[in-house]
Amino acid sequence: MAVNLSDFMDWVVARNPAEEVFHQAVHEVAETVVPYINDNPIYEKIKVLERMAEPDRTISFRVSWADDNGDVQVNRGYRVQFNNSIGPYKGGIRFHPSVNQGVLKFLGFEQTFKNSLTGLPMGGGKGGADFDPKGKSQHEIMRFCQSFMSELYRHIGPNIDVPAGDIGVGGKEIGYMFGQYKRLTNSFEGVLTGKGMEYGGSLMRPEATGYGAVYFLENMLHHRNDAIEGKNAVISGSGNVATHAAEKILHRGGKPLTMSDSGGFIHQPGGFSQEQIDWIKKHKNQRGARISAYADEFSGSSYHEGSRPWGVECDLALPCATQNELNGDEAATLLSNGCMAVSEGANMPCDMDAIGKFLTAGVMYAPGKASNAGGVGMSGLEMSQNSARLHRTEDDLREALKKIMKDIHDACVDSGTISGDKVDYVRGANIAGFKKVADAMLAFGVV
Ligand code: NDP
Repeated sequence: MAVNLSDFMDWVVARNPAEEVFHQAVHEVAETVVPYINDNPIYEKIKVLERMAEPDRTISFRVSWADDNGDVQVNRGYRVQFNNSIGPYKGGIRFHPSVNQGVLKFLGFEQTFKNSLTGLPMGGGKGGADFDPKGKSQHEIMRFCQSFMSELYRHIGPNIDVPAGDIGVGGKEIGYMFGQYKRLTNSFEGVLTGKGMEYGGSLMRPEATGYGAVYFLENMLHHRNDAIEGKNAVISGSGNVATHAAEKILHRGGKPLTMSDSGGFIHQPGGFSQEQIDWIKKHKNQRGARISAYADEFSGSSYHEGSRPWGVECDLALPCATQNELNGDEAATLLSNGCMAVSEGANMPCDMDAIGKFLTAGVMYAPGKASNAGGVGMSGLEMSQNSARLHRTEDDLREALKKIMKDIHDACVDSGTISGDKVDYVRGANIAGFKKVADAMLAFGVV
C-alpha cells in the first residue's frame, strides 16, 4: 500500500506531541522521500520511514553542579541516539536554554541524513542540556561540563557514539568533557571530536562547517556557470559557523556584509575585512560578548538592535545562527532584493514557508543537511585519524573538505535535477541521504 504523506505526518505528530521542530524536520524530509518510497515499494514493505522517524533511544539525565556562590543548580542533559545503521552515532552537543527533547530529536534526525551524505561511516545523534553558558564563569562552565560527562560517559565510546560541539559548545567545553571522560574511564580514545590539537584534534575542524557551506555555495554557482567573486553576501550569526563562512566568502572575492547575534545585526557596507572578521572571532570568544560592540569599534558600520539581517540587499544569503531564523516574509524580501542563492550554515534556519518561496522562485537553495555537512565530514576524518594514530596536514584536509562538499553537491544533482542546470537540492539531499541508510536497514532485517 502506498504511503500517504498526510497520514504519515498525523502519525508522527500523535506520537511526538509538542515537538514542533521535530515534526517540521520530519515533514521536510517526508515531503520528498514519500514519492520516492512509493516508486520503490520495498521500503514501504519494511516500514523504513516509520522506523527512521523513531530514535533508537533517547537518554535524559540530571546534571547537578555548584555555582561560584556554592548554590546547587540543576539542569537536564540529553543524548538522542537516533540511528546507527551506517556507523556509530555522531552529532554535536548543544548548551542553550532552549534545548529540550524535541529540539534534539529534530537535530538528531537531520544529522542521520547529513552524515549519510558525507559518504563516511557515521550514524546520527545529538545531545545537549538546557544550560546557558552566557554569564557563567569558566569554573562554572568546567564544573557543568564535568557533571554532564559524569553521566554521558557510560553511553558513548569511539565505536558507539562520538559527540562533538554545537551552539554553546566549543573547544574549551570539549576539552573539559574529554578530560572528565578520560578520568572516569582511564582511557585515552577518540570519543569526542573538535578536540584541541595537543590531544588528538584535527586541523581544519573549527573552519570546516563555515568553509564547507561556502564550498557548497560555490559548487551550486559553478553548476550555473557563475561564481562568488564580486557578490554581496548577507550572513547571520557570529559564532563558529558564521565567522568562518564570512572568511571564506572574502577569500573567494565576495563581500560579507552582515553578522548577527540574538540581540541584533551589524552591517559593514563594502564588506568585512579579514582584520574585522578576526576582531569578531576574538570578541565573541569572550564570555557574554555582544556583537553590538563592533559598531563602536569600526566606523562606517551600523548596529540594528532587535532585527535580523535579511532586509539588506544581497546576491547570496547564508543563515548561520539557529533554527527558524528566516521566515517566509523575510524570504520574499530577499527575493525581491535579487538574492540568487541561499546556503544554510545552521540547521533548519529557514522555515517551511521560506523554503517554499525559494523553491517556487527557482533560486539556488541548499538545505543545511547538505551545505553544513563539512563540519561533521571533518569530524569523521578526525575519528579515523584518532583510530589510526595519524596526523594529516592542513592542505591535505582542506582538499579533503572540498572533495566532500563537491561529492555531496554532485549527489544532490544526481537525485534532484529538475531540468538542465535546475536542481531541487532539498529533494536531492533527502533522497541521496535516505537511500544509504534505508538500504542498510533493509540489509539488517526488522530490528
Ligand atoms: P555558536 O555557539 O558558535 O554561535 C551561535 C551563533 O548564533 C551566535 O552568534 C548566537 O548569538 C547566534 N544565535 C543563537 N541563537 C540565536 C537566536 N535565537 N537568534 C539569533 N541568533 C542566535 O554556534 P555555531 O556557530 O557552532 O552553530 C550555529 C549553527 O550551525 C547551529 O544551528 C548549529 O547547529 C549549526 N551547525 C554547527 C556546526 C559546527 O561545526 N559548529 C556543524 C553543523 C551545523 P548569541 O551569542 O546571542 O547567542
